[in-house]
Amino acid sequence: MKYISTRGGLEPQLFSDVLLEGLAPDGGLALPESLPHVSSETLESWRGLSYDALAANVLSLFATDIPFSTLQGMTHQAYQPQLFRSELIVPLRPLMNGLSLLGLSEGPTLAFKDMAMQFLGQAFPHILQAKGTTLNILGATSGDTGSAAEYAMRGKSALAVYMLSPHGRMSAFQRAQMYSLQDPNIHNIAVRGVFDEAQDIVKALSSDLEFKNRYRLGAVNSINWGRIAAQIVYYFQGWLQATTGPGQLVSFAVPTGNFGNILSGHLARQMGLPIRRLVLATNENNVLEEFFSSGLYRPRTPAQTLATSSPSMDISRASNFERFVFDLVDRDPKRVTALWQQLSTEGAFDLSALHARLNSEFGFVAGVSTHQDRLHTIRRVFNETGVLIDPHTADGVKVAEQFVEPGIPMVVLETALPAKFTETIEEALGQPAPLPPGLEDLESLPQRFTVLPCDVASVRDYIVEHAQAHPS
Ligand SMILES: *Cc1c(COP(=O)(O)O)cnc(C)c1O
Repeated sequence: MKYISTRGGLEPQLFSDVLLEGLAPDGGLALPESLPHVSSETLESWRGLSYDALAANVLSLFATDIPFSTLQGMTHQAYQPQLFRSELIVPLRPLMNGLSLLGLSEGPTLAFKDMAMQFLGQAFPHILQAKGTTLNILGATSGDTGSAAEYAMRGKSALAVYMLSPHGRMSAFQRAQMYSLQDPNIHNIAVRGVFDEAQDIVKALSSDLEFKNRYRLGAVNSINWGRIAAQIVYYFQGWLQATTGPGQLVSFAVPTGNFGNILSGHLARQMGLPIRRLVLATNENNVLEEFFSSGLYRPRTPAQTLATSSPSMDISRASNFERFVFDLVDRDPKRVTALWQQLSTEGAFDLSALHARLNSEFGFVAGVSTHQDRLHTIRRVFNETGVLIDPHTADGVKVAEQFVEPGIPMVVLETALPAKFTETIEEALGQPAPLPPGLEDLESLPQRFTVLPCDVASVRDYIVEHAQAHPS
């Protein structure tokens, strides 16, 4: 299996190579040359596998340059019940009215980002050792990605994490999660600015190629192919739990921001998993809902992006969307390049001519959920089922309900536990979300972080001071 770029300018590469890269050199995103197909017989033979065994089977279709036994070792370490709050790793629970909930948030940081990061935390050290090199992961977070990356990479040899966060702008719980880590290879850098400014610093340093090579900078942001591949696994696991035999259709509803999670669902469907509908749910930042409803793609500016009560979906430009558009334009890299060129000059593109295919061929439907919808849905689900859901998952439930079909299970992906966003739970129910066992004292642990001015030079100096230089 080799990987190419959505813009056509990448010599085909192996899984291990694209795993350590961010954007392809031509500005595009890496994708398999062709998607593996999973037959109905193979799928049935996977029934009853543990999550880690299923993950090894699915990932072996993509990581053909890693021996199967090595992959098995990685997934066994990544998805061990001691790290997750469920023996099943990803449990499926019935809700109401044909809906069920796929629990992707039982990992160490209580959000679905753990599902992919835990795998990267095993794959990176292996690949770095094989290549005889080291990596300094540089990233910016508004909360969920940073903590998942740090928990996955803590104490790992040959790599360090430099994670920028907006000083004073994360929830107390999110701060405690990240800043309480004492591992020397984890660097929490709180910059005096907002998330977008922190992200700009990361972009500036990563596009300084001399600096990037000298300090072996790498990324684990949502465009990382390893994350997308690892997420495909839980669509298979969800389907296997929701069905009893071959060919049965299941729909999935996915709270969406950067189009990472639902892209993995799209790929699983293209691989032959019998998915009926992919229900895309956005909050008030509805760029993607607009596209899937009309064919018009019109990203907003950061200033036009609203701060909502499902903050992990407050995205102005969905970084993984290009990978889907590549399939939509029949994998024509010239067309993708032209569309993104148009995006940079005109700020939008119009694919309404292809709109009918979004549903008929690719199974997408879409809807928006608002702050009032979230409060109402959290209350209603709690009162009817006793299950407490987080605000992002509530967006998924709200939109999913509009698309339930008789006889077809509708699986909503739970993207975080409510404890992470307890302010909104209090607003909905008048009581805070309970903390999962073992985390009651998290906020009283000593915290370790460095506050820096929000500029490129300060962060650059910090990295120079702390990282070992590795001249290329
Ligand atoms: C990251 C995140 C999302 C959005 O996922 P994408 O892959 O960016 O679409 C939704 N909910 C939560 C809780 C998240 O952390």
